[in-house]
Amino acid sequence: GVAIKDLRKSYGSNEVLKGISLDVAPGEVVCLIGPSGSGKSTLLRCVNLLEQPNEGTIHVGGFEATDPDVDIDKMRRKVGMVFQQFNLFPHLDAKRNCSIAQTKVLKRSQAEADKVSMHNLERVGLGHLADRFPDQLSGGQQQRVAIARALSMDPELMLFDEPTSALDPETVGDVLSVMRNLAKEGMTMLVVTHEMGFAREVADRVVFMDGGVVVEEGVAEQVISSPTQPRTKEFLRRVL
Ligand code: ATP
Ligand code: MG
Repeated sequence: GVAIKDLRKSYGSNEVLKGISLDVAPGEVVCLIGPSGSGKSTLLRCVNLLEQPNEGTIHVGGFEATDPDVDIDKMRRKVGMVFQQFNLFPHLDAKRNCSIAQTKVLKRSQAEADKVSMHNLERVGLGHLADRFPDQLSGGQQQRVAIARALSMDPELMLFDEPTSALDPETVGDVLSVMRNLAKEGMTMLVVTHEMGFAREVADRVVFMDGGVVVEEGVAEQVISSPTQPRTKEFLRRVL
């Protein structure tokens, strides 16, 4: 899981995260919602140190990410990240996209890495398209390859930053269904999403952020259906 405590992050004089505390227990699914600019992506990026926090602590996968002496590479292996843009390597087929970090970073043999890649491509329903290149796949298929690639590193935590918001509507469902299955299998997940149906159905908890603070959090159904804070109500009125 991950434990975030009193996290602060500024860009120059602009304080974007103003003391965020947020835990995701092992096996738990937490959906992070909130308006544009509220700091959701920044928070996710701090968890695997794509951004350096200014204050606070993050414990993830047995590491203290915020310890100045942390082995960042080792820590990052525990954290899978899936972005809005799929970021696949365009010159590698789906299987090789999944295996490249396994061989380079985890030092697995190519045969072992291929086996793990195929297992994870099958998990996301793409075993039959393992030799396709990214430009031969739909957006939703590319995003599922990106998920399989992250899973192939055996992460303890998966971070998703609006994984369906760049997709054609007809492929959104396939990606959400892969994520739903991962949740069922017990994967620990922190998901930034505007898909309120998914959040209500799959999330154990929903956290609503605005202006760099957690405004409200609780059981998914409760936060989405009967929010208590005016800012949460206003946000949900606009997105639902
Ligand atoms: P969205 O829903 O639009 O993705 P978000 O909640 O993910 O929004 P962030 O991307 O975390 O919001 O941005 C929070 C604030 O931090 C914004 O005001 C943004 O302009 C600012 N910000 C983000 N990244 C940087 C950066 N690299 N340099 C300067 N400011 C940044
Ligand atoms: Mg964002």
